Amino acid sequence: MMSIELGEEYGGTGGSFFSIILAVEELAKVDPAVALTCELQNTLTVKLFTTYGTEEQKRTYLPRVAKDTLGSFCLSEAGSGSDAFSLKTRAEKKGDYYVINGSKMWISLAEDAGVFFVMANTDPSLGYRGITCFVVDRNTEGLHVGKKEDKLGIRASSTCPVTFDNVKVPETNILGQVGQGYKYAIGMLNTGRIGIAAQMLGLAQGCFDHTVPYTKERVQFGKSVFDFQGMQHQIAQVATQLEAARLLTYNAARLAEAGQPVIKEASMAKYYAAEVATLTTSKCIEWMGGVGFTKNYPIEKYYRDCKIDKEKEGLMILLHGDGINQGVIMTPDEIA
Ligand SMILES: Cc1cc2nc3c(=O)[nH]c(=O)nc-3n(C[C@H](O)[C@H](O)[C@H](O)COP(=O)(O)OP(=O)(O)OC[C@H]3O[C@@H](n4cnc5c(N)ncnc54)[C@H](O)[C@@H]3O)c2cc1C
Repeated sequence: MMSIELGEEYGGTGGSFFSIILAVEELAKVDPAVALTCELQNTLTVKLFTTYGTEEQKRTYLPRVAKDTLGSFCLSEAGSGSDAFSLKTRAEKKGDYYVINGSKMWISLAEDAGVFFVMANTDPSLGYRGITCFVVDRNTEGLHVGKKEDKLGIRASSTCPVTFDNVKVPETNILGQVGQGYKYAIGMLNTGRIGIAAQMLGLAQGCFDHTVPYTKERVQFGKSVFDFQGMQHQIAQVATQLEAARLLTYNAARLAEAGQPVIKEASMAKYYAAEVATLTTSKCIEWMGGVGFTKNYPIEKYYRDCKIDKEKEGLMILLHGDGINQGVIMTPDEIA
């Protein structure tokens, strides 16, 4: 589950990108936070190492991330959220190593992560073109993971501040090239959008699948509430939109797997699946009547979990790549 697309030589399962999307969708039907963990590990951590890692980094980290080590992506800071690349974390070169100082916020999986991708600026005079990605092990001196946030939804996935206090990392821990970190972030986010679309799709389907049987069992005015035509119109509309979100998501996954341009299709899939998840979870609470509003059923949890995609650009930037200009879709080359 944690290295679906990774080759068997590194301990992965040698699966396809499409398989990641299916796995995320299935997991999200039950718990979107678990699905997010799988999604981040596959489309971000594994992908960053396989795409930009040196042979030595691949040999060191890939067998670990395939087996028991979570990765965390440290981009956002207290003062730089949507405007992610105005980050203040610095990496100062001292001979053959760098010293990182700064504070990151909202870092997914940080509580349990074993390795961190840290975006730090090696030359602030170059602006975002100084941003460099460093691979930092959790047990490195000076790296501190703070208390996890008490969140509205996806509570099974930790989100923590991470601080770097004179963290010394060898030059060999740079991922890719100096000053290219911003490009890598944006590049990764493009396929990550399809993963978030799958998460939202699975979430909506899981919620729907819990709710419709209840409407069939619940009897009012002498028949099941499902049998009222006013209910059936609404259920048919949501079922159709779910199917449309699925087709957008699968089409984007298919294109990505074939190595075709996918930025537009991935963005459409993510946007639409998030809209459908919002509609579905809201409708499901209504269709359940009073009990939908209680914690006796999982519907309210799906409703809370789906806010992650609507409310915060965080994962939208991080996973969905709306980074430098929110809402403006750019390729790494356009940004460069
Ligand atoms: C659960 C969770 C997990 C996260 N995981 C990670 C992670 O793993 N790694 C990481 O680096 N970050 C992560 N983030 C952080 C996330 O990237 C930020 O929350 C996100 O970038 C938004 O920044 P902000 O919260 O500072 O909001 P702000 O940037 O302050 O935005 C506030 C509001 O202003 C709007 N806004 C901002 N700029 C514009 C504009 N130009 N035009 C129109 N509207 C605008 C925003 O849409 C938003 O509605 C996570 C966040 C959360 C909540």
